[in-house]
Amino acid sequence: MRSPDSRPGTGPGTAAPTALRQRLAELRGPSVAPVPLDARALAALAANPGCHRRALLDGAGVDKAALARAVGAPVTFGQSQFAFVRGHSFEARAKADGGAELVRLLHERLADGSPEPGPGSVDTPDLSATGLEGRTARTALALREATAAGRWAVLDHPLLALPVAGTPAHLEPDAIVVHPDGGWTVVEIKSFAMIDGSADATKVGAAARQAAVYALALEAVAERVAKGAAVRDQALLVCPKDFSNLPDAALVDLRKPLATTRRQLERLTGVAEIAAGLPEGTTFDLCPSDDGRTPTRPAGELAEALDAVAAAYAPECLAACELAFHCRARARAADSVQTLGRGVRAELGGLTTVASVLAAASGEAGSPDDPAVAALRRAAALRSETLAQASADGSAPTGAGHRKEVTACR
Ligand code: SF4
Repeated sequence: MRSPDSRPGTGPGTAAPTALRQRLAELRGPSVAPVPLDARALAALAANPGCHRRALLDGAGVDKAALARAVGAPVTFGQSQFAFVRGHSFEARAKADGGAELVRLLHERLADGSPEPGPGSVDTPDLSATGLEGRTARTALALREATAAGRWAVLDHPLLALPVAGTPAHLEPDAIVVHPDGGWTVVEIKSFAMIDGSADATKVGAAARQAAVYALALEAVAERVAKGAAVRDQALLVCPKDFSNLPDAALVDLRKPLATTRRQLERLTGVAEIAAGLPEGTTFDLCPSDDGRTPTRPAGELAEALDAVAAAYAPECLAACELAFHCRARARAADSVQTLGRGVRAELGGLTTVASVLAAASGEAGSPDDPAVAALRRAAALRSETLAQASADGSAPTGAGHRKEVTACR
């Protein structure tokens, strides 16, 4: 359990200043309702803090999927209807008996020698309230009361607020369990299978990053309303057991994703600053026609608006951002090394285009004192040597095939 002293300095105020709210509404389109930030979006933002484009669009609540469609680069995300229904039915099963099953799984995985929760020992506070602010306040009150009661409690779909880059994000975890000792555990219920007690590492990592966002928001609540509470640095991940619909669970360590997410979110440039640097008249308003869906603003204008905000494309965007195809096409058109991945980009230092990398490798440009240039030349020399050797052995690739390989690599 983490000490309350390690909580971030997220203050209670979550309202963006009126002028900023107005500016963001102009960017989104005055008649368009904002798309709310969720934990998945925040985890993706935290994974790419250098992308001003995503920070601004998410901060302004722009529908990135609709924008991507409007500029002719749609990306399909989300679950099929079947997976959605199956996920809902599994979540209901995992939360059966008023959360008693969740508490049983958590107690079993903790194995800390505390008394087993008996029948009727789990409270399920009513969290219903009107509007986002009302639900957030009701959740905070329920957490305070449950902590003071010193009993197990399960909060089903609570609502938390976390200020991010100057705008509030409202987050809805699957559940929060309050322990009799005042600890709070984030519960993530996922529909991917846990086979023999372990699940796909990539999916577990994504779930941990999401749980870390909830834990950050919870820390802010604990600091404000429940001084005796402490957010646990392990989340309970609940998944279907093997190929059944029965719940299985594992504790997921949040220390690393929490530290990373906290650092990345703090580093996010405020959307106000990004918005202030935009050329006059920039807007992402699709100006939908009467059917409310078909954009009337020309794709070229929208693409120009997107170009006005700096992006930090990386291949990971393909799994996390609706604008990935558009940004990849732009990076390719600019001959940018961003398409090669963050690791390669970092190794290349000041060489930002594929052409400049090839010129440096062939000796046509670049200083040999630059470590990246020196490494490229060494690699090019080794490659020539290997090809010459293979040619002498008669195992070199044929001219046409070799050319094809080089073209594909670029
Ligand atoms: S796809 Fe584009 S907007 Fe989205 S995170 Fe990547 S670079 Fe940023």
